[in-house]
Amino acid sequence: MLPPNPLTRPPAWLRPIFSGSEWRGAPTGPTGRPRLYLTFDDGPIPEETPWVLEQLAAYQAQATFFCVGDNLGRHPDIARAALAAGHRLGNHTQHHRSAWNTPRPAYLADVAACQRQLADLGVPSAAQQPLFRPPYGRLTWPVLRQLRAEYRVIMWSLLTRDYDRDLSPERALRLTLAATRPGDIVVLHDSRKASRSLRFLLPRLLAHYGDLGYEFATL
Ligand SMILES: [Zn+2]
Repeated sequence: MLPPNPLTRPPAWLRPIFSGSEWRGAPTGPTGRPRLYLTFDDGPIPEETPWVLEQLAAYQAQATFFCVGDNLGRHPDIARAALAAGHRLGNHTQHHRSAWNTPRPAYLADVAACQRQLADLGVPSAAQQPLFRPPYGRLTWPVLRQLRAEYRVIMWSLLTRDYDRDLSPERALRLTLAATRPGDIVVLHDSRKASRSLRFLLPRLLAHYGDLGYEFATL
């Protein structure tokens, strides 16, 4: 078995720094089955997201999509299809901004702009707290403090590195299979850049963990 790649799992020292954000989910559901929380960042786009929805439907898998507001504005029909299939949508800023090089007021305004797009789609529903994931996983303390009052700030426990073109899809799959544990929040991307790896990884992950009795749940 391969050791987990250091880039695949976030280093332990990061988690206390970003306290108040979520790095794992419950390892089992009400039925006692092990769970994984698949997340898809950067969509929705017509080239990838409908394909992802088809793959998820084939396994009755539920997932969470962290949407870029610009894409929501262009493709609300795809977002509605995801909601109709029982998936959750979260906020990934309006323009995929980095909190490290965007002034705080502009960053928070960008988050709010994305949330308005989500609200137009009825997200979140009344019983739910809105979800937010920072682009690039980048946050600053003052931004986190402000956002976590309103949002569940969702980080991750496993990067598939589907966006990494220097990593072959086969190796990305081996690293992911070696590292995955129940309760993991797994990052994938419904983006053009990640397409080659995503299309290799997703059906194989669904088949592998489906066969092992896992359920794929929303956050
Ligand atoms: Zn992103």
